[in-house]
Amino acid sequence: MLRNLAALYKQHLQTFMFIGIIGGALFGFLLPELSVQTALIGELFLRLLSLLVVPVIVLSMLAGVFNLKGSENIARIGLKAILYYATTTALAVVVGLTLVNIIQPGTGDSPNREKVLAEVITTDTMQEAKASFRLSDVARNIVPKNIFQAATEGNVLGLIFFTIFLGVALLQIKHPGVDAVMSSTSALFDGVLWMIEQILLLAPLGFFSLIASLVGEFVLEESLLQLGVDIGWYTLTVVSGLLVHALIILPVLASLFRVSPLSFAQAMFPALTTAFSTASSSATLPVTLDSLEHRAGVSNKIASFVAPLGATVNMDGTAIYEAVAVVFIANMLGVDLSGTQQLMIFLTATFSAIGAAGIPGAGLIMMVLVLHSVGLPADGIKLVVVVDRVLDMLRTSINVWGDSIGAAIIARTEEQR
Ligand code: ASP
Repeated sequence: MLRNLAALYKQHLQTFMFIGIIGGALFGFLLPELSVQTALIGELFLRLLSLLVVPVIVLSMLAGVFNLKGSENIARIGLKAILYYATTTALAVVVGLTLVNIIQPGTGDSPNREKVLAEVITTDTMQEAKASFRLSDVARNIVPKNIFQAATEGNVLGLIFFTIFLGVALLQIKHPGVDAVMSSTSALFDGVLWMIEQILLLAPLGFFSLIASLVGEFVLEESLLQLGVDIGWYTLTVVSGLLVHALIILPVLASLFRVSPLSFAQAMFPALTTAFSTASSSATLPVTLDSLEHRAGVSNKIASFVAPLGATVNMDGTAIYEAVAVVFIANMLGVDLSGTQQLMIFLTATFSAIGAAGIPGAGLIMMVLVLHSVGLPADGIKLVVVVDRVLDMLRTSINVWGDSIGAAIIARTEEQR
């Protein structure tokens, strides 16, 4: 009986998340004083997510590099894939940053926004980091002196640099223990993904508390409408970025390699809809592979190598979302981001999208790092969590769309389609 209930809960988790979001908003609206008292539950939920940031980045990057193991052919295809992933992810962040700087969500007139937010978001760590930020720090971050310090400081660039370096080293050396390291990495990565799945079982409650306390605070200060308008503009900015990337940038790129975007989109339709409903590129992988091979005519050799790699490292939708969300949070907190800080967001959003796992909510976990890199407080996440699930579904479809176009382009250049 209890087992059936648990299975039912898991099966309908998405619905429960929406119930948590709506319930939290209603609770915050109707009982604002009580709802601000529930903030601790949300904080614990965010702490659980933050706890997994470093293991996810390290293990997902290592698993990605290990995927490159194999013949020379694979190395060539792998290089093409990496070039495509790096270019499209960087383009995605540029789209996100451009739109968020044009639309400027979170900057509308609101006399007491900052005062209310000071109640819900701890900004004490912010000032210090803001004051000490310089361009040379970006370079220093990439090459940390101490990898453990990089991990404790949430330095994503340093962590990724070290992890790729180590992964490549393990591919180069001839040591009998390397295979064991590879299979342990994949076991550990699966373990961490399992942990995230369990944490996400708490998401309905976590969302409820985060949203209830945020809405409650704004109700008490009589600024709820303004919060709704700000979040509305933010959502619109993310969605426009996703659409520009999916409907203009990627199709133009596909056409350059003689892949017809329209008929390819038709072929990939089952994968795109599965990505939308599961919010997970990894869970969609079997459908992506099937659509690539059986509907889009990409050879098994290319599809079976490029698609799994793409599902873990290539996330254009996530990259757009990270860039927009972090600038929005800065706007809301009244922080004027300098050019260097925007450059830092460009780099960390690109790398955190690469380091994110292909599972629901991974983008939210990575945001802690992007926020940290420009000295913004991690609990700024509270401001975006209300629309996160819907945006997760949308960005995952774009992630899979990007992976698929990559597979088709590589197949074209290898004469395998
Ligand atoms: N859910 C996304 C994916 O699986 C990752 C993210 O949260 O942005 O592709």
